[in-house]
Amino acid sequence: MGGLFAASAAAFTAERSVELSAADLHGMVAEAEARLSEVRNLVGRSHTDTREYGRALASNAADLEAGAPVQPVVDALIALTRSMISRTSGVEEQLHAASDEIRQLRESLTEAQDQANRDALTGLPNRRALDAQLAIASEAARTSGRPFSIAICDIDHFKAFNDRFGHQIGDEVIKLVAASLARDAGERLFAARYGGEEFVVLFEGLDAAAAGREVDRIRATIGARSLRVNATGQTLGRLTFSAGIAQHDIGDESVSAMLKRADVALYEAKRAGRDRVIVG
Ligand code: GH3
Ligand code: MG
Ligand code: MG
Repeated sequence: MGGLFAASAAAFTAERSVELSAADLHGMVAEAEARLSEVRNLVGRSHTDTREYGRALASNAADLEAGAPVQPVVDALIALTRSMISRTSGVEEQLHAASDEIRQLRESLTEAQDQANRDALTGLPNRRALDAQLAIASEAARTSGRPFSIAICDIDHFKAFNDRFGHQIGDEVIKLVAASLARDAGERLFAARYGGEEFVVLFEGLDAAAAGREVDRIRATIGARSLRVNATGQTLGRLTFSAGIAQHDIGDESVSAMLKRADVALYEAKRAGRDRVIVG
């Protein structure tokens, strides 16, 4: 975050990452396939070379048995062996180069996969990653019978904030809230950017009341700060958010129904004056 805010003290270093397109991914896969087929050809050629070497050895041995002069046969064998060694080491080098390239491609693909699941502005998991995690968590709750709750958090009066301080500072504030959630989320929780200035936090193993307490703690921490732009000294004041909580229904409630209940609770929090958490 580069310490834009005096109050940020950010441990979070999400950079704006370059989104990779589906075409980029297809290109990478095509490249990996081309390299693999080169490696297959190399191995095939190496097998042929080895077979030919074996045949040449056998024929030289047969010449010796048939009483041919020893020296020319030995010379031929030495020449054959030298050429085999040089060809083998060439193949080995090419195999090393190909496997290095394939390893790099694999790393790029892993990175691309990671980027596809992250929000570019905040570095948090995006909506797509959230949907996947919600499906996993609700299924786990159904089978284990353990509680599972979610929170939708929405920054208060953010349109007015943007209008007053500009979109760029608005972006930094979104990053700041994301960083607070990510820090609090740690390994226990899962926090994602749900939309513009909205975030969803998953609380596996917590009922709605406990999840509400956790979110309220984060809300109070963020709301207690007075934000100031380091570079200009401009004061932005307090930033607050409202949240709605819903606990997964042990019955067969769909994920979208649970999100809807959390959204209704969020709406109530807004109507009740904002800067608060309502458990639905
Ligand atoms: P409320 O307290 O009812 O939530 O009011 P609000 O103004 O926050 O709500 P509303 O949904 O009307 O406005 C959300 C605003 O968030 C609108 C848009 O300008 C802003 N926003 C959404 N995404 C981004 C973003 O990525 N960056 C910035 N800077 N602003 C964004
Ligand atoms: Mg909103
Ligand atoms: Mg809002």
